[in-house]
Amino acid sequence: MSALAARLPARLKRLIAAAGPISIAQYMALANAHYYATRDPLGVVGDFTTAPEVSQMFGEMIGVWLADRWRRAGAPAVRFVELGPGRGTLARDCLAVLAKFGCAPSVHLVETSPVLRAAQASALPPTPGAQWHDSLDEVPRDAPMLLITNEFLDALPVRQLVMTHAGWRERLVGIAEGRFVPVAGAQPMDAAVPKGLRAAQPGAILETSPAVSAVMHEIGAHLAAAGGAALIIDYGYAGGARPGSTLQAVRRHARADPFAAPGEADLTAHVDFAAARASAEAAGACWIETTPQGAWLAGVGIAARAAALTRAAPARGAEIAQALHRLIDPAQMGALFKVMALASGVDLKSA
Ligand code: SAH
Repeated sequence: MSALAARLPARLKRLIAAAGPISIAQYMALANAHYYATRDPLGVVGDFTTAPEVSQMFGEMIGVWLADRWRRAGAPAVRFVELGPGRGTLARDCLAVLAKFGCAPSVHLVETSPVLRAAQASALPPTPGAQWHDSLDEVPRDAPMLLITNEFLDALPVRQLVMTHAGWRERLVGIAEGRFVPVAGAQPMDAAVPKGLRAAQPGAILETSPAVSAVMHEIGAHLAAAGGAALIIDYGYAGGARPGSTLQAVRRHARADPFAAPGEADLTAHVDFAAARASAEAAGACWIETTPQGAWLAGVGIAARAAALTRAAPARGAEIAQALHRLIDPAQMGALFKVMALASGVDLKSA
């Protein structure tokens, strides 16, 4: 554990002791900023494994989809953007496919972790030279953008409301007997709850993510202003807001208590894809589809790619089949994960 991470619980305790309980969103933001700044969390020896780390086929299918949109738009000069690129594996696999189609975009990686920026720099070929940014608004809007993001939105902070015997309150993080615990705030929050959801049993929780809405609005505005297309991939639900907490901690490939060790586990929440879509559309982008990952990968042609890879390396056949299964099977990553596609305007949507 780094010295910085070791100090986070103490810092949070001082903050709460001085100013009172903090919001779930603030707790999650501070915990994840520490978590990602202090380690590479991916892979078998880390805390979790993402789709691009399962197989090159994932990034390749994303590259095929983007190349198709790019060609149909007339093969313009474009900017490639990835939000939260992890080890850079997805960008590497996707850019390799784009290059085969003759697409050589400028590369923009939005990443706040110095550890992961270094990993991304070594994953990508030295030319044409990637640029790193702290947020999407630093990427110029002077050329169409091909944007991708995988398992980034789930790491952004959520805000929670909880029903108490006295009505709706914000769910906060306080301290009891030296431990972090969820508590209800004092301020009435009933007006913040949509009328249709207001009647609920004590203990009911509602979750929203203002941070996801803000990022999706930024993506939508960028697409509307500069043109392009985006693929937003994450785990979540597409049927609209529903009660319940999806806040979870993952550590060494197992579920953990989100309040036990802030900064030492990955804190995530499921993405509300209907809310994400609404934010992008409000900013002027055009929604194309929100499709379960398995069906989306099948539609782009992952089975044919798996067959070709197996023909080229028969000894790897079993490993390739296993990776394919993991990516598309509904009981694995195929159903919980969704692919949301956006484009800049009506013309591209119908293209
Ligand atoms: N997309 C990668 C990594 C997912 S992990 C993959 O699929 O393997 C989440 C990524 O988002 C990490 O790169 C993390 O450092 C980054 N991240 C998390 N919160 C962030 C924030 N607020 N701003 C920018 N990047 C962030």
